[in-house]
Parts: sequence; structure tokens; C-alpha cells
Amino acid sequence: MRSLLLLLLTALSMTSCPQVKQEVQNLHPLFNISEKELMESISDLPAATRDKIAAKAQIFLDLILQLMESPEDLLILVDKEHTLEKQYVPPDLINLQGYSLSLAGNKLELRRMIIPDLLAMVESSREQGIELVISSTYRSYSRQELIYNYNVQSLGREIADRESAKPGHSQHQLGTTIDFGSIDDSFASHPAGIWLAEHGWQFGFSLSYPPDSEKITGYRYEPWHYRYIGRHGARITREFFLNQQQYFLEFWKRKSSFFQKKRVR
Ligand SMILES: [Zn+2]
Repeated sequence: MRSLLLLLLTALSMTSCPQVKQEVQNLHPLFNISEKELMESISDLPAATRDKIAAKAQIFLDLILQLMESPEDLLILVDKEHTLEKQYVPPDLINLQGYSLSLAGNKLELRRMIIPDLLAMVESSREQGIELVISSTYRSYSRQELIYNYNVQSLGREIADRESAKPGHSQHQLGTTIDFGSIDDSFASHPAGIWLAEHGWQFGFSLSYPPDSEKITGYRYEPWHYRYIGRHGARITREFFLNQQQYFLEFWKRKSSFFQKKRVR
């Protein structure tokens, strides 16, 4: 009789709470994030990117973790809508003279933090008989103002907007962006242009304005213009963001704090 009662009670308790609490499985040991949450967080990305992330979520989150260690201003979005202040000057600008680099001028400056990867890239290209010429680098707000105004006067505003950035909107103000070689369309088929398109990402350099992407970036194809976003940033852009730096930097602006919150402490 007593055992019957127990059985009855057990059965009752089972029917009164039929939902066995499911343990949410985290996708990565260092993130409190389930597959469902990850997919929700990327729901606004292109379908091809979502598929790639779903297929390789672990690798994606590994890269996200690495990105969190990047210097804060390495991945700032600077485009037609997002500006840098007039006063913004990178903290560690240095003149490139004195390094083993091919320079098209003597006043070229970049941030010190990108020099090791730049030198490694140049060394690697030289091993394959390619010489990367650095033609344009850091530009201050006021220098960009001069260039833009000159372009407006000589080309008209519409063409000037496709060809050059308004002051405060140029990636060159970041001190992490380089124009290589001839700075014209012929660079796409120049051996240095071909080599950079293939290998630049391995050293953290990402093509900012790829072909057929004007609707995404706002700029026509610039085969010579590379922004350094770090090796992890360049890899994630290539493997997951369809080689569109714009997609990746927009995503990082929107979502970096989300992943920060989800990180296991
Ligand atoms: Zn440029």
C-alpha cells in the first residue's frame, strides 16, 4: 500500500512538471552562448555569412575571442556615415624612413603597432620577387580636407565623392591604411596588386573597397587601398564576411559588446 502511494506521488509529480529542465549547451568553453543565441545575434547578416558561421561556430568564436584582445581603435568603423573627429590623431605615428621598405615619399607615417606585420608582409613578398611600394599612408584631417576640396573643384562633387573621402571619413586618418603602387586601376593586374589580393590578409591587411561592392562600401573598386585590421580581423573577414571589410566592421561595431558580455569570466 505504501509503495503504491509512493508510485502514485511520483507519477503525480512527474505530470505536474512535465518539462525536464534542458541544459543549454554552450558552443564554446569560453562563451556563455548557445547555438540559438549565436544565430539570433547574427540574424541581420547576409545569408551566406550566417551559413558559414553556423557551419564553423567554434572557429568563429575562437576568432571573436582573439579580436577582443585587439587595441580598441584597430577596428573602428570609418565610412561615409561614421566619422573620426577633426582632432583624432593616432597615438603612435612614426615616420617610415629607416625601415627596409620601398617608399614613394619621405613624409610617410603609420602607426607603430602595424610595423611588425608590415615588415613581415614585405619580406614575404620579396621572397617571391615582388616589391610592394608604399605610396600613401597617414593623412591628417586637414590634409584630407585639401584633397577632397581639390577633387570637388576639378572633378565635380559627384565624382569626388566616389573617388575620395570627405575629411573625417577617410581610413587614412587612422594611420593604419596604405595605398600601394600606382594608386590607379592598373594596380589590379600589377604583380604587386595580385600578390596583395592573395596574401595581404595573412598579415592583417584587408582590401577596403573590393570590386563590384560600391553599394556596400560607397566607393568604387580601389585595388591599391588596404587597411590593417590585424591578422584575426583579416581572417574573419575573408572566411566569414565574404571578404567585405565593411560587413565585418559594421558587425563588430554592433555586436562586440554583446560578445564581451557573453564571455566566461
Ligand atoms: Zn587610399
